[in-house]
Amino acid sequence: MGEARNVAIFGATGSIGASALDVIARHPDRLRASVLAAGSQVDALVALCVAHRPTHAVIADESRYAALRDGLRDAGLSTRAHAGGAALDALAASDACDTVIAAIVGAAGLGSTLAAAHAGKRLLLANKESLVLAGELLMAAANGANAEIIPIDSEHNAIFQCLRSRDTQGDVRRIVLTASGGPFRGRSRDSLAPVTPEQAIAHPKWSMGPKISVDSATLMNKGLELIEAHHLFDIPGHKLAVLVHPQSLVHSLVEFVDGSTLAQLGLPDMRTSLAVGLGWPQRIESGVAGLDLLAHGRLDFEAPDSDAFPCLRLAWQALEAGAAAPAVLNAANEVAVSAFLQGRIGFLAIPALVEDTLTALSAAPAESLEALLAADAQARRFAESKLTEHAVTGHAHPHE
Ligand code: NAD
Ligand code: MG
Repeated sequence: MGEARNVAIFGATGSIGASALDVIARHPDRLRASVLAAGSQVDALVALCVAHRPTHAVIADESRYAALRDGLRDAGLSTRAHAGGAALDALAASDACDTVIAAIVGAAGLGSTLAAAHAGKRLLLANKESLVLAGELLMAAANGANAEIIPIDSEHNAIFQCLRSRDTQGDVRRIVLTASGGPFRGRSRDSLAPVTPEQAIAHPKWSMGPKISVDSATLMNKGLELIEAHHLFDIPGHKLAVLVHPQSLVHSLVEFVDGSTLAQLGLPDMRTSLAVGLGWPQRIESGVAGLDLLAHGRLDFEAPDSDAFPCLRLAWQALEAGAAAPAVLNAANEVAVSAFLQGRIGFLAIPALVEDTLTALSAAPAESLEALLAADAQARRFAESKLTEHAVTGHAHPHE
């Protein structure tokens, strides 16, 4: 074994960040957390620095710089403090790391993810929104710089593993993404009108951050993952399918031209995907127990209900439309989910806002990063302007 891998974790204080640090701490001889970055939670970031002793710590919110610097100093650490988006991007590209875990939530992760790709890093990509917003550009940047992307999203990590079973191209007949169905699987559309943020983020199988938990409840998460798979595996939409699998043990399936279908199975714990990304092409301990199929007993599958969960259909439409449509879809969804979590709109307003925004801005140009960022900004403004039309009074309770 060579030198230890120096790993930068962008989104260190989040759910993926915690899982990543857990795996890294199991392998002090081969893995080191050299850069830890967070959005605005200084105390949580300093606590992680005390435990993991990185060389650099970054807080994206520039107004929190002094708090981070003083917190590190008071803890007696030599970790260097940085703040702001430019510092994130610079550290992603710097010699401080050879591996970047992109685990910021939302389009806010695009800059550092692109910087890591351009710099040729091994990129452990959890931040699916950056692929939805700028998939062509991100894949081109990674290919141009020989950056090795290992998807961390459990479905795409499963597909990544299944595709390593052969060394030809063009032999994939179909890729099937599995979906848990979220907390509201089996419910009618009408019954979803009064659900609260607390109910929506109570995922039956996975413990995740609030935004992706709501995305799982609307099935937008699976829609974003279709677009993610299209870019990661260079596969057209008509070869992608979604299958609801409530046990969340089969993480996805790949069907080849010879009739073989390969699947990856495991307990629903993101440390497995992260260990694949950190150790590849070797397999390393993740802390996750093996799968006892006898104890689980059965694996069920059903078709997704696109009437109750229109976000899946909207994401298919955006994937087929291409250009800026996925960026518009993603931006409108981020605005809608944030408003829902704040108790400002109801659950069914999420697909309604996304659909309104997609319809209004379907022709936005997409020929450059600037154009995509402009489409993202325009979609956010449009969705914000429509929030009052969907405002709720009474039944919704804010989250936190
Ligand atoms: P989370 O909300 O738990 O954590 C988000 C992290 O991003 C935090 O560290 C936060 O400080 C940081 N952050 C937020 N805004 C930021 C900004 N503007 N600049 C810099 N940092 C910022 O989210 P999560 O569940 O860990 O998800 C992270 C990403 O991974 C998302 O894109 C999600 O879709 C993806 N993902 C997560 C899971 C999971 O199991 N949690 C599974 C698959 C994919
Ligand atoms: Mg997933």
